[in-house]
Amino acid sequence: MNWPEHMFIGALFGIAAAVALNAAMVDAFFIVGVASLSSLVPDIDHDSSKIRKTADIVVPISAFAFSIASTCSNDLFCIFPHFNEILILGLAITGLYMIVLTFLRPKHRGITHTLFSAAVFGLVLYLFSGFPFALAGFAGYASHLFADKHIKVI
Ligand SMILES: [Zn+2]
Repeated sequence: MNWPEHMFIGALFGIAAAVALNAAMVDAFFIVGVASLSSLVPDIDHDSSKIRKTADIVVPISAFAFSIASTCSNDLFCIFPHFNEILILGLAITGLYMIVLTFLRPKHRGITHTLFSAAVFGLVLYLFSGFPFALAGFAGYASHLFADKHIKVI
């Protein structure tokens, strides 16, 4: 199944999550969006997937954004004196991502295609954003497994 179909089914699961949460219209819009995007995450294990191509760009940018934010949380001018630290942390995170996907890459439809990973993904969203998006993310992620007809617990 290709990515537009996964996003469509993810959106349907998102609508179900929004209904279950009795979400207001604006919130429902975001919940459906999160679910729809989350439906692409399991295929991160696939070299040519849309999510992989996106992550290859988004992860390094986020790594440096995180590095700057964690080093200079309230003073942007500290970027220059701390340039080396920021560079090293940003490169370290980017490198870790590359190493994991290059050498420790799970086989396609392996660990990423399990309800366990869906739960971990939901948990991470919960820590960063709270219950509604966590449920939306879990629903979207699980929709991918459902659409692949590949539902395993672990
Ligand atoms: Zn898949």
